[in-house]
Amino acid sequence: MKIHEYQAKDIFKHYGIPVPVSCVVKDAHRARDFAEKTGKKVVVKAQVHVGGRGKAGGIKLADNPDEAFRSAGEILGKRLKGLIVDKVLVEEAINIKKEYYLGITMDRKSRKNVVMLSTEGGVDIEEVAARTPEKIEKLYIDPAFGLKDFEIKKLSVKANLSKSAREFSHFLKSLYRLYLENDATLAEINPLILTGEGKLMAGDAKILLDDNAMFRHKDLETLQEIAEDDPIEQEARKSNIPYVRLDGDIGIMGNGAGLVMTTLDMVKREGGNPANFLDIGGGGSSEKTKKSLEIITMDKNLNGIFINIFGGITRCDEAAKGIIEAIKSLHISMPVVIRLAGTREEEGRRLFEAEGFEVGRDMNEAAKKVVEFAAAYKGRREKN
Ligand code: GDP
Ligand code: MN
Repeated sequence: MKIHEYQAKDIFKHYGIPVPVSCVVKDAHRARDFAEKTGKKVVVKAQVHVGGRGKAGGIKLADNPDEAFRSAGEILGKRLKGLIVDKVLVEEAINIKKEYYLGITMDRKSRKNVVMLSTEGGVDIEEVAARTPEKIEKLYIDPAFGLKDFEIKKLSVKANLSKSAREFSHFLKSLYRLYLENDATLAEINPLILTGEGKLMAGDAKILLDDNAMFRHKDLETLQEIAEDDPIEQEARKSNIPYVRLDGDIGIMGNGAGLVMTTLDMVKREGGNPANFLDIGGGGSSEKTKKSLEIITMDKNLNGIFINIFGGITRCDEAAKGIIEAIKSLHISMPVVIRLAGTREEEGRRLFEAEGFEVGRDMNEAAKKVVEFAAAYKGRREKN
């Protein structure tokens, strides 16, 4: 589960990690009020669940209250990487001397939590990891012993933070406690700022919480804002249909999570890009089939649909009837390719073919066809 920067900073404060004085507003006038009250330069920051807000124009420095008003007005109501910004965090600007990266996450390979510290802060850490991995210092935490003082000291020396060693130690220990106590899978400060006054401060805050541990954190559950999720995912959640939106143009539907994941891989291998993951589950009723197709086709990027059914308890002919009916009633006109296997496969295939549907001989062929058809459909759409 993702939470917002302002929510994460509230948690930071609770753990004694220094963050700038701030307030969250939904109205540009309130941003001006805050800037007036503090009498300092402020920074206006979009509160949406996307990374790299700085580069995307979601973070603006304002020298005075009028500028704060203007910046907040510019950011509020705008889309940032597809999400509408309905609130901004207004903070007293920090006088930045240097930006660091500090994060704790789970490292599956070593089966430990790992601390990462880098002098290349403020930028995309994935980029640093890819280009100059030697610039990220790592400390694997032994779960039995926790963080040791000498390890922290060594880390701070490596990152040229020895002048702020005590403060850094407090930062890291607090962050680790926060990470453990809240069942986080990531706690990240990027940038961790060394101010012109020689203090350390969290410039940004990112916390990911383990969904499977939410039952232990009823208080944190309320931080989740369904409203901010993708509208199609919301619709799917209402109907209890496992759906994840992806960024391609080929809609995918199958019965069984493993089958759907394989289908995604097959489409990718043929050079296509899946638009979603959707698992219709076993024994899919015609009602559920229809709802699923309705959800898939809410995505306006779609150029084709791949339906992959494995008949076990679900009979292929039953599934075929439901799918045909749903496609007709939803007036779906884009290419649909089917793959069927298992119980009553032949009967199902005949039903589809009688209606003029394309049925692949196997998963490979069906994937190839849907990619080809979707590309052609896209071409036709672009011409018109
Ligand atoms: P992100 O792009 O979504 O990670 O947003 P951040 O909160 O990390 O901000 C991106 C960048 O904006 C930072 O790395 C800073 O360079 C700059 N920035 C953010 N807050 C301040 C501030 O208070 N003062 C100054 N001078 N720059 C800031
Ligand atoms: Mn950041």
